[in-house]
Amino acid sequence: MKNWENNIRRVVPYVPGEQPKFSNIIKLNTNENPYPPSPNVKEALDQLDTADLRLYPDPTCEELVCAISAYYGLLPEQVFVGVGSDDVLAMIFMTCFNSEKPILFPDITYSFYDVWADMLRIPYTQIPLDENFVIRKEDYYRENGGIVFPNPNAPTGVELAQTDIEDIVRHNPDSIVIVDEAYVDFGAVSALPLIEKYDNVLVVQTFSKSRSLAGMRIGFAMGNPKLISYINDVKYSFNSYTMDRTALAAGKAAIEDKAYFEETVKKVIDVREWTKKELKRLGFVFGDSKANFIFAGHPEYPAAELFAALREEHIIVRYFNKPRISNFLRITVGTREEMQKLIDFLEQYCKK
Ligand SMILES: *Cc1c(COP(=O)(O)O)cnc(C)c1O
Repeated sequence: MKNWENNIRRVVPYVPGEQPKFSNIIKLNTNENPYPPSPNVKEALDQLDTADLRLYPDPTCEELVCAISAYYGLLPEQVFVGVGSDDVLAMIFMTCFNSEKPILFPDITYSFYDVWADMLRIPYTQIPLDENFVIRKEDYYRENGGIVFPNPNAPTGVELAQTDIEDIVRHNPDSIVIVDEAYVDFGAVSALPLIEKYDNVLVVQTFSKSRSLAGMRIGFAMGNPKLISYINDVKYSFNSYTMDRTALAAGKAAIEDKAYFEETVKKVIDVREWTKKELKRLGFVFGDSKANFIFAGHPEYPAAELFAALREEHIIVRYFNKPRISNFLRITVGTREEMQKLIDFLEQYCKK
């Protein structure tokens, strides 16, 4: 008997949403944007010289960092970039959650937080959302090793008021508070102004959803320069060249096309609001999503059955078989045409 397995770091991995290999589907399961990225992205990629791929990319990601900081009116020192916000969040967990005290996050939330905490051996406590799936700020006024939550929350889509976020930050001057704003561009209010007022808050965003670049893997964090430099120290200790040349070029082109971004986001919001009206008409119940998805359940039809029936129709949504949310489906907002097909199917289904 060899005992090498005793020395293995064994983890229960995060399970990403399915990327089905069959075509002809309506894919509403991973909150991707139904519209392509800015045409400027294609132009930027066309201009790349493959001969340059023999060279390492810029480890400081300077051009992308400067484009992001210019967009938000920040200093470049206030911006950290990484390989999707999953990478950014993992770096932040590693850098900022280094206490014996448990970090805090909601019981219903992005299911990567507990995976990173387990892998990095960070103790954590999950705090139940209230009965309307809303964060109760007072629950976070206790000793902790850090705080993280998405706003709007995932997979509920529900937004926490800015004043409540500020109260959480203010009550926790000795902890880093991460606001994961993966969906904030679809109509929620960003906590970004708080980074000028408080040195313990980090705002994390991504190009994957509102900028249609999930396949390119670009995320970023914004915070005070000292905190950002600590995260960079950890990044350089792990992998200096996280962002490749294509991602750096595509990201810069995407963030510089504000008009296209605003147009795309508006289309998603309009289709979301239309879909809400239709789902309501069919008897579905859901919170007021400010994200590019709707987390909905039907009092008469179990979500697991609806999920399977939709799948038969090649309409793929996300179902989480977990306590408190097992009767809900997370439905990504697709194009108007895709949502029409979803509603037409549900209309027939709910008549049966
Ligand atoms: C999608 C998502 C992310 C990660 O997105 P990336 O593609 O890694 O940028 C992070 N947090 C939440 C809550 C998300 O839904």
